[in-house]
Amino acid sequence: MAAAPTSDPACVFCKIVARQIPARIVHEDEETLAFLDVHPLAEGHALVVPKAHRARLEDLNEDEARAFFATVVKVNRRSRKATGAPATTLAVNNGPEAGQEVPHLHLHVVPRVKGDGAGAIHALRWPRPTLAPARMDELTKEIRLLP
Ligand code: AMP
Repeated sequence: MAAAPTSDPACVFCKIVARQIPARIVHEDEETLAFLDVHPLAEGHALVVPKAHRARLEDLNEDEARAFFATVVKVNRRSRKATGAPATTLAVNNGPEAGQEVPHLHLHVVPRVKGDGAGAIHALRWPRPTLAPARMDELTKEIRLLP
């Protein structure tokens, strides 16, 4: 099912989708678009977006999610091939508290090479909580989909 044709006239990524502002587009299909990040963290750093204005990952319905991640797989593969990078970091800043600056869902595809110094996502300065096993059990129940 095609994404609902919603668009936010104030959104920079909706403007890219509508070709109102330029971007270096690397992939397009009915539901998704991918383009190079204007301030790349690495050569070939690309962003994958749904064409419909969806602020966050949880705003995608199942069909939209399928289309979105199918594009992520394609762009990731092509980005690695084009740059020769042996690895990539795939990341979504999902909500402002997580650092999302553009409020239109986008997944960063960042090519990675040995010694680039960026580290793993675990290298972010997380104030790691100390969780009791009982709380871990509770969280498992609350998060899992199966009964
Ligand atoms: P985030 O912090 O996850 O919201 O990241 C937003 C990303 O969008 C940043 O990496 C920006 O460099 C990128 N960005 C913002 N405006 C544009 C634009 N017009 N074209 C391409 N990338 C953009």
